[in-house]
Amino acid sequence: MADDTDASKAGVSRRSYLKAGAAGLASLSFASGAAAGREAEAAGTANAGGATLIRDGTVVTVDPDHGVYDTADVLVRGGEIRRIEPNIAAPGADVIDASGAIVVPGFVNAHLHTWESGVRGVAGNWTFMEYLEKMLGNISSHYRPEDAYLGNLFGAVQQLNAGTTTILDWFHIANTPDHTDRAIDGLQDAGVRALFTHGPPGDNSAKWWENSSVPHPDDIRRLARERFPSDDGLLTLAMGARGPDYSTDEVTRHDIELARELGIPVSIHIGSLGPGGVATLDDLDLLGSDLNYVHANRLTDEEFRLMGASGGSISTTAEVELQMGMGMPAIGDAVDAGATPSVGVDIVSNVSDDLFTQLRTAVQVERGLRNQPAVERGEQIQDVTPTAHRALEYATIEGARALGLADRIGSLTPGKRADITIIDGEDLNTAPVHDPVETVVFQAGVENVDTVLVDGTVVKRNGLVHNATAQNHLDRLEQSGRRILREAGL
Ligand SMILES: [Zn+2]
Repeated sequence: MADDTDASKAGVSRRSYLKAGAAGLASLSFASGAAAGREAEAAGTANAGGATLIRDGTVVTVDPDHGVYDTADVLVRGGEIRRIEPNIAAPGADVIDASGAIVVPGFVNAHLHTWESGVRGVAGNWTFMEYLEKMLGNISSHYRPEDAYLGNLFGAVQQLNAGTTTILDWFHIANTPDHTDRAIDGLQDAGVRALFTHGPPGDNSAKWWENSSVPHPDDIRRLARERFPSDDGLLTLAMGARGPDYSTDEVTRHDIELARELGIPVSIHIGSLGPGGVATLDDLDLLGSDLNYVHANRLTDEEFRLMGASGGSISTTAEVELQMGMGMPAIGDAVDAGATPSVGVDIVSNVSDDLFTQLRTAVQVERGLRNQPAVERGEQIQDVTPTAHRALEYATIEGARALGLADRIGSLTPGKRADITIIDGEDLNTAPVHDPVETVVFQAGVENVDTVLVDGTVVKRNGLVHNATAQNHLDRLEQSGRRILREAGL
């Protein structure tokens, strides 16, 4: 795609930023020096109360009424998608030339412990039990409020860099109200859309995670009142409940009833140690469409049926589940039972932080599991499911549905908020584009994410992330992570 920024006018092309040196990619694609100034200016002025016109892109709306446009424009005004059609006239609009690129809804990463970005890449060889012991039994207690801030800020900025515009941030180092407040500040400063999912403290894993009889911290009432007074902003509130696998029935009941009193959804890790959690929720008469189930690998068929019948959603984090011995990703079982599917990264302490990788892993494993009965019968399979388009729904509209945000985001639909990712179709690993959906789902990666808008605001453009707070301060995250690991003795 062509450039239309000050940078290109100055004779410096996007490709020279991105492709000329490793620096652009290695440092979260932040611009530096003079380039940062030009880029920040280009991004900052893009939406100053005006309109943005994304011109001549291949537009994959993930909206059944709109389908895929080979070439169309997307008009954004006031943070909202206004029109999608070819040749829109919008005098005065900031124009983003998307020719040769694929325009998709911003991805929804439905499960992320964002705070762990400071300890990226330490747990790639850990079992689940080692993770519980070392991460939630040790590392998490060494986080200070400022570490929570930096982890969430940089973790969320990297999500934007990777084309993800919405995250469910499952926060389980609520060690003090300051930790929680700073974590929320980090999301705010990142400019991401997030369901901040308030969990328990990370200062005593036996107390909070081993058949815990301690109810969810009451601080969530303060958050609902003071930090999330409305539910139409970029950040909204959920509860990260421990649920039946990690707390007593009394606590499970207390916590879910508290969330319902506050009118917020609940996300629960379940079924990665063994079956029975959803059956317990059924026995307690607590099932509902406001429950999001994370992992769910070892649930029984009957539990998947209960999940689907009650309108629940599953968040599969395939790479982590495969690594840590939780069991095979269960997204196919959940879909077959009628549950809403979504995918997430989970923890960058272990695995890749981009949804391209996680979606691809989840979908190919689901296909493999669906193919296996035919393989075992010595037969050839008749078709491949899910399709690439269905997979893209997992990462967009279905993820939005799982987070309770489908009326606002998840598809490119006039009237929805403008959370948009533009993927370059003219890179070595994406060209030629014969089927834009297949290109996005099976070929593209973070390096192809050219431009990202959240709520109409350009947060990445021409391959470079713009964040005034994080810009040129990656060393703060590095120092934070190294200090935490040193104090943890790891
Ligand atoms: Zn998790």
